[in-house]
Amino acid sequence: MVESRIALVRAPNPSPLTLTGTNSYVIDCGNGEAICIDPGPPIETHVEALLAHCEGIGCALTWIALTHGHPDHAPAAALLRERTDARIAAHEGSVAHDRTLRDGDSIAAGDVALQVASSPGHSADHLVFYEPRERALFTGDTVLGEGYVLITPPDGDMRAYVQTLARLAREFAQARTIFGGHGEPVREPAAKLHEYIEHRRIRERQILDALKGAPKTVSQLVESIYAQTDRALWPAASQQVIAYLDALEREGRIRSQRSEGSAPVFALAVDSS
Ligand SMILES: [Zn+2]
Repeated sequence: MVESRIALVRAPNPSPLTLTGTNSYVIDCGNGEAICIDPGPPIETHVEALLAHCEGIGCALTWIALTHGHPDHAPAAALLRERTDARIAAHEGSVAHDRTLRDGDSIAAGDVALQVASSPGHSADHLVFYEPRERALFTGDTVLGEGYVLITPPDGDMRAYVQTLARLAREFAQARTIFGGHGEPVREPAAKLHEYIEHRRIRERQILDALKGAPKTVSQLVESIYAQTDRALWPAASQQVIAYLDALEREGRIRSQRSEGSAPVFALAVDSS
């Protein structure tokens, strides 16, 4: 138990991208009802652990709410649904579901009304959930307990992501805890969101600075910006660089030259160096 009525049940799927595993949450909503957020990957022992937890707190699962449809968050929803009377609530672009969630909706169970907010960026179908009684913000892969979030175009969108972070900082300033999709709960949500926004601003600045005077390819940018980073992480770093370039090019701030058989080269639209 990490909060009085919120339990973290971690899935046994650790990896460099999922950290110690995917966080599934069970909220005891009162009146014998519970909501599960992100039941995780389709691992039988994990589904059993979620069911055992619900039984232990004397609750029947009424809703399975999905932050997004990625394979480390959503597939167990179908397994859990077969074993309970719970229905699946998700974004229209997510996996198969019973109820489509939209920005501003709420999911009612017991005496809880879980607020739904659209949060595109990590994926186009991403949602976050806010439980006002415990001031708990469930952020899926929008904010993690440690490290930063991978934004992989075209499903991931860096500009939408930064706008989402700013919106969360503005609209959920009262949140007491962020429960992310991976890692430990975050006890200072406002500081974490500020840190995330700053990190993105600095990275974007580094890319623009690296392009001054000399057009570069994605791998040249990764080599100069991620020089201190373990090379094993460079493929992921390339994805991040592509996500920034993608946003900057759409905004007309950089230009790319693409010729067959060679890597695209990026340059500042207006180079004042
Ligand atoms: Zn994800």
